[in-house]
Amino acid sequence: MKLTFFGAAGEVTGSQHLLESDTLRILLDCGLFQGRRAEAYAKNRHFRCGPGQLDAVILSHAHIDHCGNLPGLFRAGFRGPIYCTPATADLTAVMLRDSLHIQQEDARYLSRHAAADRPPIEPLYGENDVRGAVKLLEPLDGADWHELSPALRLRFTNAGHILGSAVTQLDIEDRGEVRRVVFTGDLGRRSLPLLCDPRPVEGCDILITESTYADAVHPPPEDLKARLLKIIQRADETQGKIIIPAFSLGRTQQVVYFLHELAQTGKLPRVPIFVDSPLANRVTEIFARHRELMDAAAQRVLRHDKDLFDFPMLTSLESPQQSMELNWREGPFVVIAASGMCENGRVRHHLKHAIEDERNTIVLIGFQAEHTLGRRIAERQPKVKILDRMFTLRARVESLGGLSAHADAEDFKWFFSHMSQDSHIGRAFIVHGEPPAARALAAILHDVCDEDPTIPALYESFEI
Ligand SMILES: [Zn+2]
Repeated sequence: MKLTFFGAAGEVTGSQHLLESDTLRILLDCGLFQGRRAEAYAKNRHFRCGPGQLDAVILSHAHIDHCGNLPGLFRAGFRGPIYCTPATADLTAVMLRDSLHIQQEDARYLSRHAAADRPPIEPLYGENDVRGAVKLLEPLDGADWHELSPALRLRFTNAGHILGSAVTQLDIEDRGEVRRVVFTGDLGRRSLPLLCDPRPVEGCDILITESTYADAVHPPPEDLKARLLKIIQRADETQGKIIIPAFSLGRTQQVVYFLHELAQTGKLPRVPIFVDSPLANRVTEIFARHRELMDAAAQRVLRHDKDLFDFPMLTSLESPQQSMELNWREGPFVVIAASGMCENGRVRHHLKHAIEDERNTIVLIGFQAEHTLGRRIAERQPKVKILDRMFTLRARVESLGGLSAHADAEDFKWFFSHMSQDSHIGRAFIVHGEPPAARALAAILHDVCDEDPTIPALYESFEI
């Protein structure tokens, strides 16, 4: 078999890996690259995996850096099935429509504001491509093995990262021999409220694993909740605004759930909270359809409270008009808006209006990839560019990385020690992490794998 890495190699966006046997060509994830605009656009536009010759795509979860280029793949000729869990199928449909919408809005904004000599910016794909990709989604129930062809069977187990996220186990027959491949997608944390914890799987011949936070140990959720409370109490005193850039899928629900819990303790000051993301509102509706994926505590809350995410201080905004009205509103208030790395979406407009005032706080809760606006804010660069204009960063910046839904070093050790306990891990490939994180995971895997782990470079191929 052959394995080639077309994305998320030495970085955290653009997940796309190709698995080839003597009879099958399977793509694992098809995400969007994010980062420097021109570079990301070029990478997203061109496929090297031969879309027309693929037999299937296996989709680990519905985050845009894992599913966001499926319409591009359709546009380039792919017509096979896209296997995923039922919740991932529901979420991917709304995520892809939103991705197109963001690209269309960006193209409009940039062509209005860009210099006249700049070439026009076009979305990567159109409505037909989104519709086409969504029709190819083939949900498979998570618990069972599925015989998909004489040479391929597959099982999804809960990855505990976001709603519907899965670790994929694949048995592939190649030249008369069956090989077990495990692809972690993004692996979640244990004991984070709301969703069920990741479930360990048996060992394998080939492991492809993410490594985003393998060089970190996150503080416990209770500490994060306490910090969030302090930040809001301060904003209440200074009449400041709190801007929380968050992925509409996953982090927004997690933060709202935390705030709901804080509100119930009576400790939270009565500061208005706005979720300014129509997408997050759609996603929240999908959460309600998949209650079986919630953890025991959330199930208990659901017994007497219909909605996990709704409480009196919270307002969900829909229209751009409502969003713009917030720009001129005096603090204190909290606004949660996409995107998580501040690269697109409504949060950029809130940042523009808040970033130059020291009473305000920007709370970063997810991983901030290199070359993104979120990373520049996290690094407290004195001047940052938002929507083609420079701003002075005077607001406070707080990083609550522990609220990220990615496994940390302890979670990885736990997961891989389970895998190797009664079985073995043959060869491991480490993706979806910047070099220090990937190296940290290599050190963890070194002790549990038969062979030395490999950190592939972009476009590198391996005979396995
Ligand atoms: Zn993810």
